[in-house]
Amino acid sequence: MDLGLSKDEIALQARARAFSRDVARPRAGQIDRDEQYPWDIVQALAKAGFLGMTMPKALGGQGRSFLEAVLVIEEMAKSCTVTGRIVVETNMGALSTVMAYGSEAQKKLVARLVLAGDKPAICITEPEAGSDAMAMTTRADKRGDTYVINGKKHWITGAGVSRLHLIFARVFDEKGEELGIGGFLAVRDENQGLRATRREQTMGLRGMPEGELTFENLEVPASMTVMPPSGFRRGFADLMNAYNSQRVGAGTVAMGVAAGALELALEFAKTREQFGRPIGEFQGLQWMLADMQTQLTASRLMLHQAARSRGPQGSAFPDPMLAAQAKIFASETAIRIVNDALQVFGARGYSRELPLERMARDVRMFTIGGGTAQVLRTLVAAKMLGWKLPQRRDGYAPKRSLRDAAE
Ligand code: FAD
Repeated sequence: MDLGLSKDEIALQARARAFSRDVARPRAGQIDRDEQYPWDIVQALAKAGFLGMTMPKALGGQGRSFLEAVLVIEEMAKSCTVTGRIVVETNMGALSTVMAYGSEAQKKLVARLVLAGDKPAICITEPEAGSDAMAMTTRADKRGDTYVINGKKHWITGAGVSRLHLIFARVFDEKGEELGIGGFLAVRDENQGLRATRREQTMGLRGMPEGELTFENLEVPASMTVMPPSGFRRGFADLMNAYNSQRVGAGTVAMGVAAGALELALEFAKTREQFGRPIGEFQGLQWMLADMQTQLTASRLMLHQAARSRGPQGSAFPDPMLAAQAKIFASETAIRIVNDALQVFGARGYSRELPLERMARDVRMFTIGGGTAQVLRTLVAAKMLGWKLPQRRDGYAPKRSLRDAAE
């Protein structure tokens, strides 16, 4: 299919496909069974130049676009979901936030760590603040030139393996007045008081640790505050804008897993025989395969469109509407496609000897992490209607300043 890619983009895609086939695929099953973060894959990705690709050349990156990152992520996820996610988190997410809003010193710090193989963690979710992120209670109190952070986050991707953390917390000035929600950069083992205190037992993506983080008097220099020009009051909304790249990345991992499962199902449908004929000759399966391909093509086009787009007012990030729609559609159809691919394999699909059951477990998370499919639908509907759609019974968030930040 001609996706309107340049020669350079096609070459990058081919390089990622070869890496995926030769390096990631042979390791994928073992990573799932061991439930260990694959440092060997990280090193190989770094060596092949797939980490920090979207950073400017001046910082050691390649100045690549989100679309180019998406091309690489799809290829990696076809073979190994964990590898796909590593490429997302080392090219989008916290990295893009710092590249857009960080100081020169912060950008250099991120570049140094990511190029050496670190996968930065984004720390937003708390036990009582999931979809309602504004309900977070982690706080950062200003003490001279330092912020002192206390609180707990959970379901943080990379907890215990990531070094760099972008931590979101409610900010209080020295008089105890609340200013809004801000982002703070802390490095595990360098800033005392940041500990991984629990690992989640996950259904899929078992090589990528998800866990709880506890901050106990974690001291972060004020110079490590990631501050959009809008300041703390609207800063959270701007910082969350960076999540639109992460959403496109996450949707692409789901789509890549689906593409990988479909490739396997297609091959099997041509070779497995029943009733004296390849099962692909049965119309019942042909229509399943055609539906899978149709959904996959639509997902890919939506993700590419979102990756190429830019939000309003010169945003460095994908358009929020396009990113949300692409993530909803890609994550939901990927679950269906992988499930149907498993069905094509009959009993073999249900076996742990083939990758289909792992793919089905891995792909399940993408309608949840990074904004659930329900919450993203609310975002899309609000933009369509041109209305604010408060989800709280009393109309809005507790404080006027935070209420503004969410809009
Ligand atoms: P809840 O918010 O409690 O929602 C429960 C259900 O209610 C969901 O179905 C939800 O869609 C629905 N719901 C809630 N509010 C509404 C509403 N207003 N309208 C309609 N339906 C609603 N967080 C981070 O900060 N950093 C990470 O790196 C990170 N990685 C993750 C990785 C994985 C694998 C997973 C599963 C989660 C990760 N998360 C991370 C957390 C993720 O962002 C949250 O799980 C998500 O925001 C939902 O929060 P919750 O799980 O508390 O669900």
